[in-house]
Amino acid sequence: MKNATQRPVGRRGFLRTAAGAAAFGLGGSFWDDATLEAAPQNVNRNSRPSQLKITDLRVAVVKDAPMTCPLLRLDTNQGLVGWGEVRDGASKTYALMLKSRILGENPCDVDRIFRKIKQFGFHARQGGGVCGIEMALWDLAGKAYNVPVYQMLGGKFRDRIRGYADTTQSKDPTEFGRRLKARKDQGFTFLKMDLGYQLVADTPGTVTMPAGMTPHELRNTQHMFTGIELTDKGVAMLAEYVAKVREQVGMEIPLAADHFGHIGVNSCIKLGRALQPYNMAWLEDMIPWQHAELWKKITDAIEVPTLTGEDIYLKEDFVKLAQMHAVDILHPDLATSGGILETKKIGDMIQDYGVPMAMHFAGTPISCMANVHCAAATENFLVLEQHSVDVPWWDDLVTGIEKPIVNQGFVKVPEGPGLGVELNLEVVRQHLAPGEQLFAPTPEWDKERSHDRLWSFDYRMAEPPVANPRRAD
Ligand SMILES: [Mg+2]
Repeated sequence: MKNATQRPVGRRGFLRTAAGAAAFGLGGSFWDDATLEAAPQNVNRNSRPSQLKITDLRVAVVKDAPMTCPLLRLDTNQGLVGWGEVRDGASKTYALMLKSRILGENPCDVDRIFRKIKQFGFHARQGGGVCGIEMALWDLAGKAYNVPVYQMLGGKFRDRIRGYADTTQSKDPTEFGRRLKARKDQGFTFLKMDLGYQLVADTPGTVTMPAGMTPHELRNTQHMFTGIELTDKGVAMLAEYVAKVREQVGMEIPLAADHFGHIGVNSCIKLGRALQPYNMAWLEDMIPWQHAELWKKITDAIEVPTLTGEDIYLKEDFVKLAQMHAVDILHPDLATSGGILETKKIGDMIQDYGVPMAMHFAGTPISCMANVHCAAATENFLVLEQHSVDVPWWDDLVTGIEKPIVNQGFVKVPEGPGLGVELNLEVVRQHLAPGEQLFAPTPEWDKERSHDRLWSFDYRMAEPPVANPRRAD
């Protein structure tokens, strides 16, 4: 098999050559003999896009990237291979259960296949399988037609994608500020920090909460139902923590905050007001995204941007939050929100309400490139999370692009076909999660099926007529 991504010049190169020849008056006509002879050499002859069919889906789960990430491989009848990724922390089963639904399909029909399988996704990690498959379909379509994914989305608004980064936590604000400043020194132009009430809870009189809550209750009770509220002293200490961090990183660089703990709505408002002097870029997921009216109450009460979205599946809930102006910024995770095209649609639709799109992300370079192509093609994109800055082998997972992938806080938009990267299988093998295999066969998923309809089926309308399934004969 020839390298699936081999592309001596490519169709865009061919067009450039032809246009250049015309512009300089070379040859007797635009389609001179030399140009016509050259044309077939520039076409990817591995691929006959209209005949392309999906023949297999396999998985390799890597760990410590820093998250656990199921990587996907879609094989085809023409030797082209497409790469995708289920959202970090999600089960590979979310993708494998879709295998029987996509075998035999032409992967270039990305939107049609997405609409067929999207009923099997849901919010948070349950969206991971649909989105991972969608990424791999775009990779195959791009390789079949020899164009990068961003081009199929309508082209670029930018050549490099701004990243934001967090760092490891410390209860000492000066120490934490130094760590965050190191990110700035690495070139990052946008920072994020955790600001949980746990930072100050050791000091008496900072947090009011019912005694005896178990760790399980603390984790799994939604914010409004915990009874946990910050005292004025607790709010002041958290504001002082941010003040010390700002002393280290300066006031000029955008600084967002996340992971406040499961505190009530009024505590969110009190804290938001106390943070106004520090000009935060956004306050993230202070309460669950489902509570749009409560989000709006917080957003309307404070002069600091609010943000949510990393666990929302499909565009409709994003649009609702944007229409309401429940938050100032929306923050899809492309591996949950519906994949590359759905996330571009989310960006375009919320743009009409004046809402920017930041992007949540914590996967491998495969999913990173899916984000990068989408971010390049979406006008109201703000910034993309980079969660693996301290993982030394993260870049090595892929080949075909410039390294470091995140350079001075930015990712260059790749120009290769599809996602623009190939997996380095040896590096993937070295970082497999316990018990996982490197793209082993998955025949047990070939025939998985159910009555895949979201509305009732009237057998009498079938053509040609079918027997009444309720009759014994
Ligand atoms: Mg978050």
